[in-house]
Amino acid sequence: MQQALIEKYGEARLPRYTSYPTAPGFSPTVGTGTYGDWLAAIRPGTDASLYLHIPFCRSMCWYCGCHTTITQRDEPILDYIDMLRKEIDLVSRTVGGRPTIRHVHFGGGTPTIMQPEEFRDLIGLLRARFAFAGGAEIAVEIDPRTLSAEMATALGAAGVTRASLGVQSFDPVVQKAINRIQSEAQTAEAAARLRKAGVSGINFDLIYGLPHQTVASCIATAQAAIRMRPERFAVFGYAHIPSFKKHQRLIDERALPDAALRSAQAEAIAETLGGAGYVRIGLDHYALPEDSLALAAKRGRLRRNFQGYTTDACTTLIGFGASSIGRTAEGYVQNEVPPGLYAQRIASGRLATAKGYRLTAEDRLRAEIIERLMCDFRVDVTGIAARHGFDAAPLLDGNAKLAALAEDGAIDIRGGTVTVRQDHRFIIRAVAAAFDAYIDRSARTHSKAA
Ligand code: SF4
Repeated sequence: MQQALIEKYGEARLPRYTSYPTAPGFSPTVGTGTYGDWLAAIRPGTDASLYLHIPFCRSMCWYCGCHTTITQRDEPILDYIDMLRKEIDLVSRTVGGRPTIRHVHFGGGTPTIMQPEEFRDLIGLLRARFAFAGGAEIAVEIDPRTLSAEMATALGAAGVTRASLGVQSFDPVVQKAINRIQSEAQTAEAAARLRKAGVSGINFDLIYGLPHQTVASCIATAQAAIRMRPERFAVFGYAHIPSFKKHQRLIDERALPDAALRSAQAEAIAETLGGAGYVRIGLDHYALPEDSLALAAKRGRLRRNFQGYTTDACTTLIGFGASSIGRTAEGYVQNEVPPGLYAQRIASGRLATAKGYRLTAEDRLRAEIIERLMCDFRVDVTGIAARHGFDAAPLLDGNAKLAALAEDGAIDIRGGTVTVRQDHRFIIRAVAAAFDAYIDRSARTHSKAA
């Protein structure tokens, strides 16, 4: 039944809605000039988040879906950090008023590929150019295989509050099949070093659907990870798209679990984490009940952004680095993806914007409906539409997808509120897609894009 509905609605192929509209809808018609205007319109004291992308790793994990480059040399990394610093200067000169920074996220790649002093200097520059709020959250993605004691200390000293550790699977057979050998001891040591340095919020990323993975190995990995007691887990299904990510061709397709097995693995991990006291949050996150993410979910204050579920309520996000995505009140922007092209643009003194999207009033309405669904599994469509100055009727009554979902017993619609039934939460992306005006279009036009 579950599998039949997943296939009927194409759940696995639908967006994860970390933004609306989603990134494939961005267009080069939003470029440097537009982004410059949007930055200039930021008012002093606007709550904002920063994202910095570090696109380098020492070895390639064959399942990787990130924008990253493998290098054994330090020179390209140093050159890149130099460009990041230039971009930070350029953006800070372009913003209209100094925003108040409440969240910073270092993603990659492997941000901790930097040397401790390089990281310290970069944080120092950010603090000099922007006004950080007291208690601002600073989060860093970590590869436990390469985290030195010195780097852990530097992260703590720089005020890092959260660390997200890639774990994926502890099964040695799976690790060999994905080219990522990482012992339990390495992971435990990295977590212990971070805690000792004062980084109090630890997240582990786990993946199911990897080659040779079984339900039993998923449970064993979750149990081993639970013993290290991270505050949060993010659990993702492996997306095998070798036509898009060439290194994924190194993965033996015959060893990949089928859709039914993937679903059983996801459920087994969910049950194991739930049994250990972790609260399930949204589509794919878990947290200890006292963690801020669990509390935000309980209070209906959970948010969703490019990093997934978050407590970050800022609507302004300034991205730095190759491929980074940002958002201002007017819309989304994305930097050039190839690090060489990004560097060229910054070296010439210009912003590195490659494409973006200017939000319409209707986009904002649909974005809020989709975000609430993804976070709460329920949404007051009538109330949100009224706040945005829209009539809810076309969204509800004339919505064939919603009617089909109700017919299949996946949702209830009462008094203008759509609720996803507890036992149908696996189909949340299909419910969100029922409010996506662009999902069925193969090519879009942007009537208001500049
Ligand atoms: S460490 Fe992370 S970003 Fe780097 S190759 Fe592995 S999965 Fe990709």
